[in-house]
Amino acid sequence: MSGTGAPGGADVPESEKVEVGLTAEEVEAYEALQEKVRQGRTLQLTMQAPRRGKPPRHWADLDPEQRREAVLEAGLPRFRADQLSRHYFERLEAEPGSWTDIPAVERDQLATAFFPDLMTSVRPLSCDAGTTVKTLWRLHDGALVESVLMRYGVAGIRASGSGRSRTTICISSQAGCGMACPFCATGQGGLQRNLSTAEIVAQVVDGAARLKAGEIPGGPGRINNVVFMGMGEPLANYKAVLGAVRVLTAPAPHGLGISARGITVSTVGVVSRIDQLTAEGIPVTLAVSLHAPDDDLRDELCPINTRWQVDQVVESAWRYFLATGRRVSIEYALIREINDQVARAELLADVLRRDGGWGWVHVNLIPLNPTPGSKWTASKPEDERAFVRRLQARGVPVTVRDTRGREIDGACGQLAAAER
Ligand code: SAH
Repeated sequence: MSGTGAPGGADVPESEKVEVGLTAEEVEAYEALQEKVRQGRTLQLTMQAPRRGKPPRHWADLDPEQRREAVLEAGLPRFRADQLSRHYFERLEAEPGSWTDIPAVERDQLATAFFPDLMTSVRPLSCDAGTTVKTLWRLHDGALVESVLMRYGVAGIRASGSGRSRTTICISSQAGCGMACPFCATGQGGLQRNLSTAEIVAQVVDGAARLKAGEIPGGPGRINNVVFMGMGEPLANYKAVLGAVRVLTAPAPHGLGISARGITVSTVGVVSRIDQLTAEGIPVTLAVSLHAPDDDLRDELCPINTRWQVDQVVESAWRYFLATGRRVSIEYALIREINDQVARAELLADVLRRDGGWGWVHVNLIPLNPTPGSKWTASKPEDERAFVRRLQARGVPVTVRDTRGREIDGACGQLAAAER
């Protein structure tokens, strides 16, 4: 999500800065962040989110039993709980006006008690003929996050790619990120706060509602995949993320009924939490952002490596596979002349190799999306090809990710939550 370009920055005349939907303070804060990024890495790893005012409690923060209790406590009949869930999760109707099976007075009461305004869309941006849509959200306390909807395989829209028709939404789990990876725009902005379960779920509900309403080219559709690859380190906000996974996967009417296999939790390698996730036994897809096979380089690219090293991260990913049978995805952003040497491809294969072959893992190479002012860029095409060929020669399953949304700063690592 964004960062690149000059969001209200130097090239934008003063007079045009007003109508983008952000306040002067927000624009100023963003400019300060841009400056920090230009100056290079400035941040330390932060595991603990700053304590800020909690977002108001929302229906999606509660489990089905708590919802029933809450409705009873409000003096309303218990069955209203399931009715409400049906409206929000199944019909995707967040507006009380459409809850016509509930008396109008009760509707208002329920809306006030359980459906506070969590977030406002500041401005959606789209590309790929409308099949990639990035939304910038302003949360109740002014924190900004982004989510990106990507529809694939839309007939007649070449930019949406080929293959079967499907839609993925990339969502944020924190406002900012404390992991301080120097090549990532979000990582360079620091951590503002954790999102609540409902703030995470609401991003998906919004995307699902737009798809259902036919707002995205390709006719009415539904969300097939949810990836925690927006802003933030999901496993550093474990409880809220797990809560969100539960709501996303719960069958109607209690949740969105998305298959756990269609959900990808992407982590920079918080090993203690990977192990905890393994113990939950929920078959989500785990993606691990490795980016380097050797500790020296990984210490630099992913500061968390100073706490849990390459071997420990790969071991925990392997345990995840053993427990769930889910093939683990290893993310590797190819950075020109930094981590893209054939020798590193060889080392990566060594590090990932486990008894029983390659069935447990898949390497996903991501051509680096440059962030503003960064000295790093994507690998040369011939180096990328050589890297891929070496992995293939070793038998490692590998694909190069087609990144979407670069022109709207919506691609991997570009999310910095600011207006252009
Ligand atoms: N904190 C999670 C989610 C991050 S975003 C994690 O680290 O996995 C998802 C992916 O985008 C991660 O693999 C991340 O390392 C990668 N990424 C970050 N910045 C990038 C950039 N500039 N170019 C390409 N990929 C990037």
